[in-house]
Amino acid sequence: MDAEFFRRWLTATTRAVEEEADRLTELDAAIGDADHGANMRRGFRAVSEALAAQEPDVVLTPGAVLMLAGRTLISKVGGASGPLYGTLLRRTGKALGDAPEVSDAELRAALDEGVRAVGTLGKSEAGDKTMLDALIPGVRALAESYPAARDAAARGAEATIPMRARRGRASYLGERSIGHQDPGATSSALLFATLAEVAGDV
Ligand code: ADP
Ligand code: MG
Repeated sequence: MDAEFFRRWLTATTRAVEEEADRLTELDAAIGDADHGANMRRGFRAVSEALAAQEPDVVLTPGAVLMLAGRTLISKVGGASGPLYGTLLRRTGKALGDAPEVSDAELRAALDEGVRAVGTLGKSEAGDKTMLDALIPGVRALAESYPAARDAAARGAEATIPMRARRGRASYLGERSIGHQDPGATSSALLFATLAEVAGDV
């Protein structure tokens, strides 16, 4: 996979986030402050703009594309999800180094590092009812295939419904966070859906 693959992944994610923004906001209205859709939309629009603003003759590496996206999310999104997704993409990009092309196994290892960085920044782990509950199973299933990762992340997001939130705004609700799907886990599942989509047309 080359830099163009990663541009396509991020562009597809911008489109998916636009399409799902209302749903993400609805989920956040139930256990947060109803801004997750808007945060994601603002962040990924800025990512697409930053990528489009690159000089056409400057060939970025896959790592540089992801680091640019990560920096953009961190600087443009005020909510918790901005720094967390920004860290995910920045760390993943950093782990890819300056290789012009990366293999499936290299991407999986890099995403694994990125997901770990999210846990470190958020002081969160599997079962806390956060984005990690989709990211962790998604990355694990990448060992099998991109569609398997998409499905595992979607199942992971659904599995947050009976969980009690231990991190982020939803944790303020205590028991009342039970019975609602986590918005960040839902947007993380989108990232794997678009990855499978883009991997399907290479
Ligand atoms: P905010 O909570 O600041 O309004 P968003 O609504 O954009 O930010 O994002 C909320 C999502 O961020 C949650 O649904 C959850 O998945 C994720 N999140 C919040 N805090 C953490 C954390 N400490 N670790 C991992 N993910 C978190
Ligand atoms: Mg919110």
